[in-house]
Amino acid sequence: MRNIYPYLEKQKEDMYAYLEEIVTKESPSHDKELVDELGKWLAKTFEKLTGGTTTTIPEATYGDHIRGEWGSGESQILILGHFDTVWPKGTIKTMPFKMENGKAAGPGAFDMKGGIIQGLFALKALKELDIPMNKKVVFFFDSDEEIGNPSSRELIEKEAEKSDVVFVLEPGMSEKGSLKTSRKGVGIFNVEATGVPAHAGIDPDKGVSAIQELALQTLDIEAMNDFDTGTTFNVGKVTGGTGSNVIPEKASAEVDLRAKTQAAFDRAIETMLGLKPKLEGAALHVTGGANRAPLERTDQVVSLFTTAKQLAKTYIGMELTEQETGGGSDGNLTAPLAPTLDGLGAVGDGAHANHEHLILSEMPKRSALLAMLLAMYGGE
Ligand SMILES: [Zn+2]
Repeated sequence: MRNIYPYLEKQKEDMYAYLEEIVTKESPSHDKELVDELGKWLAKTFEKLTGGTTTTIPEATYGDHIRGEWGSGESQILILGHFDTVWPKGTIKTMPFKMENGKAAGPGAFDMKGGIIQGLFALKALKELDIPMNKKVVFFFDSDEEIGNPSSRELIEKEAEKSDVVFVLEPGMSEKGSLKTSRKGVGIFNVEATGVPAHAGIDPDKGVSAIQELALQTLDIEAMNDFDTGTTFNVGKVTGGTGSNVIPEKASAEVDLRAKTQAAFDRAIETMLGLKPKLEGAALHVTGGANRAPLERTDQVVSLFTTAKQLAKTYIGMELTEQETGGGSDGNLTAPLAPTLDGLGAVGDGAHANHEHLILSEMPKRSALLAMLLAMYGGE
């Protein structure tokens, strides 16, 4: 353990050079051509730096996924790193990669290309330092996390089922770099109200307004918000009606649900799917459900975090903290299947925002932390 951090500290200039390369290669989730180019670079770089092997998993619509495998053993440890970003093609021209004042900026530097580079160097350190391992490491690079894993979800779940532990290289929280030991579950619903159309001037009493029905439902849904327990609902989009002189037949709403625990999440989903119409003559049709399950702060997650905290303090002199977040990640997919530690990636700020950046001096430290966790859980 002792020699991992000093080794990576000496590698930092190399890490920064690779960071520049990966950020300069743009990879907006919906641009298959660009994402595939970066995928090819990742496969090549994974093999070169870690000595491992890669498989390309082809996708028709989204970018191909890259599965890296390193070491050998019956059981496996999973590392997750999505390489798509929310930044459209050409952002690199208006927001070019730059390193100054100890920070690196550029589209996707923080979320989460910096974390990917740290992960690659963690494996390189284990290889170069001959750290004995008896588990293999699967490093899965998915191409579509930022748009909700339409093509990688099943692949990630399949890998998680086979894994003893999962490390997610999403950025840490804020400039403290806190690990994410709790992520809320995300539910998405469509609430559709159907009324009875009628002429607003001639037969106003014969109609049943779908908009009125939906408005009543909206008040009920918003009233279920519980900010203390963190179970929240947002009616985020409504549409309905055809014109001011028609009592509307159709209206619908898109609703976002967040909850911290599986139990609260399940209850809220049941409530949403069980909504009943309020107006006589109106009908209500609710579809949707869980998009990502919660990453709960279970005893296993606490134990993973405690180990990470001790390793960080003993060998890096780093004070590691934990936080919860309402945002979802690949970690939500794996949490129900294997103990998952999330937020191990870059330290910085501004994910999805113009001030996105990471702190360069944290890169070798976080890389060392991951390498030590791998050695701890996969070592002999
Ligand atoms: Zn991310």
